[in-house]
Amino acid sequence: MEKPAICGGTPACATSLQYGKQYIDEADIRAVEEVLKSDFLTCGPRIPALEQKFCEVTGAKYVVAVSNGTAALHIACIAAGIGPGDEVITTPITFAASANCVSYCGGRPVFADIDPETYNIDPAAVEACITPKTKAVIPVHYTGQAVAYDEIAEICRKHGLILIQDAAHAVGTRYKGKPIGSLADMTCFSSHPVKTVTSGEGGIVTTNDENLYQKLLLARSHGITRDQSLMTRPTDDPWYYEMVSLGYNYRLTDMQAALLSSQLDKLPAFSGRRKEIVNRYNEAFRDVDGIIVQKEIPESDTTRHLYILQLDLDVLTCSRRQFFDAMGAENIHCQVHYIPVYRLPYYQELGYPAGLCPNAERLYERILSIPLYYSLTDEQVEEVIFAVKRLCKYFHK
Ligand SMILES: *Cc1c(COP(=O)(O)O)cnc(C)c1O
Repeated sequence: MEKPAICGGTPACATSLQYGKQYIDEADIRAVEEVLKSDFLTCGPRIPALEQKFCEVTGAKYVVAVSNGTAALHIACIAAGIGPGDEVITTPITFAASANCVSYCGGRPVFADIDPETYNIDPAAVEACITPKTKAVIPVHYTGQAVAYDEIAEICRKHGLILIQDAAHAVGTRYKGKPIGSLADMTCFSSHPVKTVTSGEGGIVTTNDENLYQKLLLARSHGITRDQSLMTRPTDDPWYYEMVSLGYNYRLTDMQAALLSSQLDKLPAFSGRRKEIVNRYNEAFRDVDGIIVQKEIPESDTTRHLYILQLDLDVLTCSRRQFFDAMGAENIHCQVHYIPVYRLPYYQELGYPAGLCPNAERLYERILSIPLYYSLTDEQVEEVIFAVKRLCKYFHK
């Protein structure tokens, strides 16, 4: 057998592949250029236009565009009224922002373990974490696959908890036929360049609740309102506004809004291509000794953001690090999503014990994310598959 590159063989991939990459076309560039030549770089007409389009894409009643996905999560926590003494349950297998948004508000993130097969938060673990202090749950649609939404929504209803979805991975995903963004009290999206649609930086919150919507608008822009019905001293002085709460400047620019609108036109194509690649990977890896394929639930029609390779370390002689490095030597630059959030030093210092969520820690030791993005060619997909299969053979016990 030919040796993998790390062992002195020839590199499998002609080009260097990353795990994710944006796709920008001429329509995107024109959309941004038009804004640059217009009168409004921010607070202009592209913002409501984007919000309207996002309503149509997700079926949500109200949409608030913000500067990034972390800001989206932060204002969702503000609108939910999270404050000191409150606990909010989330998953450890996520980006730090899913927990940080709670910490920003003075609340305490509580980590519920994952299902070892879907890698999403386990509803039974959520229920076991509930205390009298619990105020909200923030499940993450990890890799884009919907969480067990009905089960989690029922737990929230039963215990009077607010449900905020972190859908940074899940634009385009449907749960039981309904688009992510149309369900839950609030849903937060990100348009960072590695995500399915991008505006460089950008975030969106969706809700169907008018009261939450008003709070989100205030939190986005300094707590300032020009809406007379929200004022303490309504007047018709044209310059008059009131700051009625402490908000932030989390506004998106019109350049970003125009770019995101243009990207949303391509969402069906992006989604379709991602599904094709995922199906090909699943088919190729299902019977590879050494690889465990992420379980798919039938309720989720998934637009996948990440493709996770779980190594079966029981049958391989290598560590995850050795496999990761060997992929790199084949010019396939993987990533690991994610270090369990409570293992990060900031949270360790707050006293979260190691071993808190055993399924999450076990998964973290075994995973890497391989290339998945719209412009990945069939040939490149085959190169990735070839490299993975070859390494599994090479490192097989
Ligand atoms: C990307 C991401 C975020 C944060 O989004 P930004 O736009 O980068 O602030 C939050 N949660 C998850 C799960 C993410 O992947």
